[in-house]
Amino acid sequence: MTYERDIVRHMAGYVPGEQPTDSGIIKLNTNENPWPPSPRVIDALATVSAESLRRYPSPSAAAFLAEAATLHGVDTDQLVATNGGDELLRLAITTFVPPGRPIGIAEPSYSLYPILAAIHDSPVHRVALDDDWSLPAGFPDELNAAGVPLTLLVNPHAPSGRLLNAAAIARLADALEGVLLVDEAYVDFTDPDHDVVSLIAHHDNLMILRTLSKGYSLAGLRLGYGIGPASLIQPIAAKTRDSYSVDAVADQLGAAALADPETARASWASVRRERQRLTDTLRGWGFGVPDSQANFCLAQVPTDAHRSAASIYAGLKHDGILVRHFDTPRLQDQLRISVGTPAQNDALLESLQRQLER
Ligand SMILES: *Cc1c(COP(=O)(O)O)cnc(C)c1O
Repeated sequence: MTYERDIVRHMAGYVPGEQPTDSGIIKLNTNENPWPPSPRVIDALATVSAESLRRYPSPSAAAFLAEAATLHGVDTDQLVATNGGDELLRLAITTFVPPGRPIGIAEPSYSLYPILAAIHDSPVHRVALDDDWSLPAGFPDELNAAGVPLTLLVNPHAPSGRLLNAAAIARLADALEGVLLVDEAYVDFTDPDHDVVSLIAHHDNLMILRTLSKGYSLAGLRLGYGIGPASLIQPIAAKTRDSYSVDAVADQLGAAALADPETARASWASVRRERQRLTDTLRGWGFGVPDSQANFCLAQVPTDAHRSAASIYAGLKHDGILVRHFDTPRLQDQLRISVGTPAQNDALLESLQRQLER
């Protein structure tokens, strides 16, 4: 006897990247920021009081929202804090998609999207990205024709790191009849001046996902947020969200993180420098590497290496270095490599070079 819904019984769950307990492993597989969070976050953690744990937290995560409003120059009613960016994805589906109606995605992208759709009893309308991972010209028309009420678009794109500029996002929001949720999990690592937040004033169907997991080195804290017009944000903030999904510790630590942008910015600058070095070196060795604006590179193994991506993945792992290999048709011959510290990247390149010589 099983009590699960059929859809749950038949689905495969999300497969997270490996999280080894051995701290000697060089982890370049789950796109964490290689640098530590702000010391102000650690100070805030040390001052968490018993009283703040005894009581329920601020329902809106008010301390965090106040800092986020200042950072982005928006009102607090244009922001909602969530238990990681992943919770915002789930809430956007709950709030904007009648069960059974399709959710639009470009493929490949974040593998959590189809899982959240399945749980909601919604089919996924998949549009294949072009060979260079750009959106096909007919993308919005196709989704409109399918009657899609919500499109999930990761930008910079995962797993390629390719960035659509703000003007392209604006055109897409104009063209789509449903809600466009731009998943900006990696936006902190883009070259400065990329700004989609200012578009929310002009597009009532545009919502942005942010997270402290990557840019602020706080993946363990589980704090994300949405930015959008109040007409999109408030149904989530006031109705579909759990009352206390962001805990008191995340509220305080998240506020401390946003209040110290200098530490985070230094990590972003390092990631950008190292991303360029990895890209240049790998291209020099014959790998195909798209220009990335995220904290990872997607590297296509050259055919004359006579090594499969899967075997290089295994060789790196043998050397204590984890990267990500997706066993899907379009990504089979590629490795997604998170940008590490200079020393970690040196170790990666050394191991890779040894394997290519074999
Ligand atoms: C990391 C990530 C998120 C959100 O992650 P959280 O840790 O839940 O904040 C959302 N989308 C993509 C594509 C991601 O890589």
